[in-house]
Amino acid sequence: MKKTKTKTAQIVKIVCKKCKKNFGADKNYIGVITCPYCGNYVEG
Ligand SMILES: [Zn+2]
Repeated sequence: MKKTKTKTAQIVKIVCKKCKKNFGADKNYIGVITCPYCGNYVEG
């Protein structure tokens, strides 16, 4: 079976300035994202 991509989710990498760890977030998401590592607010 072939895997067909129906939805192309664009993920952007955001680097937290506090803990300097990067994590992925949806590109369509606009606003402030909370860092999953330290809880710091990062602008998306
Ligand atoms: Zn962080």
